[in-house]
Amino acid sequence: MDHHNPHLSETPPTAPGAMGLVTHELPPLPYARDALEPHISARTLDHHHGKHHAKYVTTLKELIQGSKLAKMPLEEVIRATARKKAKAKIFNNAAQVWNHTFLWHSMKPQGGGRPTGAIGERIDADLGGYEKFRDAFKTAATGQFGSGWAWLVIADGKLAVTSTGNADLPMVHGQKALLTLDVWEHAYYLDYQQDRAKYVQTFLDHLVNWDFANGNLV
Ligand code: MN
Repeated sequence: MDHHNPHLSETPPTAPGAMGLVTHELPPLPYARDALEPHISARTLDHHHGKHHAKYVTTLKELIQGSKLAKMPLEEVIRATARKKAKAKIFNNAAQVWNHTFLWHSMKPQGGGRPTGAIGERIDADLGGYEKFRDAFKTAATGQFGSGWAWLVIADGKLAVTSTGNADLPMVHGQKALLTLDVWEHAYYLDYQQDRAKYVQTFLDHLVNWDFANGNLV
């Protein structure tokens, strides 16, 4: 499944630790804006990264400036505000900053298809094989009513496919995220209109970054 495209050698590695420390800043995309075309357009990434992700970052900073949360790493902000009604706005924006940074790494140019490496073995052992994983992921991503996220996670020591609503995310449920797909309409509407199923299928066939999932297993 490894495609050797010399143009990709300049892109930053997406192996272990590639996400680095997620901060309250907008990280650059790990590839060019048009690198996921024709599957995800540069126009979508302009809006999704440059407007939506950027807005979550600026809103979060406004909400926490001058408070003790401003000095915490992003993951601590998320954990400190989860399930606290009065802090829901901070949680939502902090979680969406984290989710989007995680999303960019969950995709890569010429990705998708069958998993390689340890993640493939874990999918066979824990989920009954790639076909079953794919069906479960499609069901999770298309079945999430309204806005949210589909995930491949480690839960109780085993791989699992899940979905969350709005900004909710695995780390506040004791799970470790390995891979995600944004199923908010803003993620696919410009390219796929209402056809979420086609967007999910395209993600699985052409975009999934298994290197990133493998890096998150360690
Ligand atoms: Mn989004």
